[in-house]
Formats: sequence, C-alpha cells, structure tokens
Amino acid sequence: MSETVRRNATLDDAIAEARARYVAANPASLARHVESLAVMPGGNTRTVLHVDPFPLAMAAGEGGVLRDADGHAYLDFLGEYTAGLFGHANPVIRAAIDRALDGGISLGAANLVEARFARAVCDRFGLERVRFTNSGTEANLMALATACAVTGRRGVLAFRGGYHGGLLAFGAASPTNAPYDVVLAPYNDLDATQAAIAAEAGRLAAIILEPMQGGGGCIPAEPAFLAGLRDAADAAGALLILDEVMTSRLAPGGLQSVLGVRPDLTTLGKYVGGGMSFGAFGGGAAVMDRFDPRRPDAFAHAGTFNNNVLTMSAGLAGLTEVFTPEACAALGARGEALRARLNDRARAHGAQMQFTGIGSMMTVHFAAGPIRRVEDVAGADPRLKELFFFDLLASGIWLARRGMMNLSLPTDDAACAALEAAVEEFLCSHAAFLQ
Ligand code: PLP
Repeated sequence: MSETVRRNATLDDAIAEARARYVAANPASLARHVESLAVMPGGNTRTVLHVDPFPLAMAAGEGGVLRDADGHAYLDFLGEYTAGLFGHANPVIRAAIDRALDGGISLGAANLVEARFARAVCDRFGLERVRFTNSGTEANLMALATACAVTGRRGVLAFRGGYHGGLLAFGAASPTNAPYDVVLAPYNDLDATQAAIAAEAGRLAAIILEPMQGGGGCIPAEPAFLAGLRDAADAAGALLILDEVMTSRLAPGGLQSVLGVRPDLTTLGKYVGGGMSFGAFGGGAAVMDRFDPRRPDAFAHAGTFNNNVLTMSAGLAGLTEVFTPEACAALGARGEALRARLNDRARAHGAQMQFTGIGSMMTVHFAAGPIRRVEDVAGADPRLKELFFFDLLASGIWLARRGMMNLSLPTDDAACAALEAAVEEFLCSHAAFLQ
C-alpha cells in the first residue's frame, strides 16, 4: 500500500494531511496570526474568517484574483461573501471613489450624491423610500426597530438557519444576539410557521427572512411559502421584512421581483455599496415616512457615516454603470450553468454531494436528496466541508470555509473551468468518503 493511500485511509487522516500541507505552505500567514493573537481575541475581529489552525492573510486582490501573504494566487470564488461582486479594483468604481476623495470625504452635511444614489436604489429594487446604514446588520436592526415602533409590539418571527447579521444570527444559539423576543420556525414549512404565528397572536411585530438563506447554505425559499407568509403577516398585523442583503444580486429587481412577493420592508447591503461599508432599509412611503424629521412624532435614525460620500459614490457607479440589469442577468446565467455542471460531476461519481443555490451564489452540501431547510443537512458530516475547503485552497480556489462560493463580475470561463477541475479532483481523491 502506498504512503498516500495509507494516510488517507480515514477521513480524519485526510483532513490531518490537508492541514499539514496548509501549515507548511503558509508560514507568513501563520506569523501574522501569531502576532495578532496579542491584541485581538484569537487573532480575530470577524468570526466567520477564523480557520483552524490559522486563517490565510490576503495581501492584495486584482480583478478576480487574490494573493496571500506567502505569495500564492487564488481565484476569488468567495467574492467577499457577495459584497465583492465587482471584483478587485474595478476601474469605474475606483474612478468614482477618486472623484469623491478629491472633493473631501467628511463633509458633515447632506451631500450631492446621496439622493442620486437613493433614486438608483429605489428604482432598482422597487422601493418608495430608502434610508442608508453602514452594514447589513444595522439595516436589519433598523428594519426590526421600525416594525416594533409601528406595531407597538416586540415579537419577531425568524427562521432556523437564517442570518441577518452579527447580532441576528439564527444558525445556532448566539448569546450575543440582540434582545428581541425571537421565535424560530422551520424554513419552507408554512404549516409549522402558521402554528408559530398563531401561538404569538397579538405579539408579533415582524416576520423576517431571506428569500434564499445565504449563510444557512444557499437554500431558496419556495414561492408558495413566501406567498403564505405574506398573507400570514397581514393576518397577524405584522410587517414582512425581506432581507435581501445577499440576494438582491440574484435578479435585477432583487430576488423578490422574480419570486413575486412584496414585503413591507426590504433590507440591502454588501455589493450595493460598491464594495464600501453599506446597508439600507426601505419600503413604502407610509411606513418609511415615519422617519421624516419634519414630523413632530418622527422616528429617529442617526449614523455619522450613513451618507458618507465614498459609499454613496461607489454605490451609485456600481449600480448604474457596472452591475446593470444586463450584467446581472449574465452573471446569474453563468452561475446557473456552473452549478449545473458541478452537480453533473457529483452525480457522475455517485457522490453524496450537491451544490444548492441560485445564479451567482452556491454552497456545497454533503447530503443526498432535496434540501429545503437546514434540518435537511443536519446529518451531514461537517468534516467533509473542512476537507473540501482545504483541498480547494490547495487547488488555488478561495472560498468560504462553510463551502459557500459566489461568482463576481471578473469570474470568467477559465476560472469556472478551474473550479470544475478542482471539484473533479476532490471527487476522485475522496470517493470513499462520499458514498
Ligand atoms: N443579512 C444577510 C442575509 C447577510 O448574509 C449578512 C451578512 O453576511 C447580513 C445581513 C449582515 O450584513 P453585514 O455583515 O454587512 O452586517
């Protein structure tokens, strides 16, 4: 028996070998991590980026390629968890930022770009009014606060596997979640959700969900489920909030525009700010105009950087000049075709492995059968995602540790072919663990 076969006799052995290869290849990333341990808890300021034994440190990005501290190049299939849609150093966005810098960035006043950007966002996503924040988390906190203030209630219905920000994470119990009265229901299960709503009668301020759970594993909502939630929210007197922080990229008018559901409030974030810090919440005038400061009873919404000219300028250029409806459709088609090819390969190997998602967003799952909610993949062995992550890194593919991949505008045919080849190699090398 060869060394390799013996070492890979078990899944744990395969992971140990992959980790050892990773450690040996990345001394500069390790050194940076060790230095950071003294001043950042676990060397980390963004939990999702932690990797055991240490995360790679990226030094730079250009187009669709990242380069790490040790000089390795990676095809960027993470796309900054969807915020990096434009790729690195997009010239149109860069020019917009340069112009903004030339004009001074901390004006402490209404500026000449914010209303133009607001117009572009409203037109694109079917909103009557919008307000800007600095992150998707803040956008969702504001949307929930709005629902509570409008209804005079405190209850929030969310879904298991949902992610709405650092303070609103429903994948696992999080002691740092914001103190809302949250009830969790199973995604894509209208009967169970209706029962949960009935149990909360008179207490629900909002129902909040992603039209495709992103962090939860690229699990799309079924149209009938969304339509049922719309009716249920109306019957309960609660606001329906659609978190399109990730999914707004999946159709020119956001995923809601193709799923045929109109929420009371929509939240946005990620790429919509052109790669700068960004969030937004918006909807119909009747609800949003409660923030009109000319009203004696106006709701307050502050934020030093809400209208910062870097985000306003980059976002406006990104939405109107780069990620046009045509570019959005083309990227979605590229992603759909790639995901179909990856699933074909998994099927050809008879592997318990599939890629779920829509358009430019996808996640690998090591499970057979339909995946309609996170409970459907609860039995999958998490070590396979670990192995997939390290193996794809070794093939020069940058992705999320949880197996999420997002296309960005620079993702071309060659990059897609490289990802396909890396997945094929994974399927061949680890067939024994995938049955
Ligand atoms: N909502 C969804 C669906 C997200 O995926 C995220 C981030 O991943 C957020 C909200 C939070 O956005 P941010 O990280 O900008 O606070």
